[in-house]
Amino acid sequence: MIDPKDASYIDDLETEIAKLRAEINNKDIEIKRLKKEKGLSSTREGLTFSTHTGLWADQAGLLYCSTCLGQDKRNPMKSELPWGWRCSAEPKHYFSNPDNRPPVVNMRGPRGGGGGPNSWMGS
Ligand SMILES: [Zn+2]
Repeated sequence: MIDPKDASYIDDLETEIAKLRAEINNKDIEIKRLKKEKGLSSTREGLTFSTHTGLWADQAGLLYCSTCLGQDKRNPMKSELPWGWRCSAEPKHYFSNPDNRPPVVNMRGPRGGGGGPNSWMGS
């Protein structure tokens, strides 16, 4: 059913596609090499670091635990807003929300110290 002219056209296209695929492959290899050079781990691939929150986020805006990423593990954060975020794998990994100002409480008394489960007092 295919016209011989069409057949050769398709052949041409297939050759072209194969060439492009090979090129993409080469670029992928180059990207990996460059990332390795810069010391970027693949665990952070596709994630961007926010200096504001200290957390990594993917393109959908999902946040990932920086502490776990440091150990080559990608674990999403559970929101505990407005206070902050907690690691879904390690509850110890807690990141406070910089935009959440702690309520002004009178902490002048001797009972003020110690700190709570929230680490807004600073790290
Ligand atoms: Zn974690």
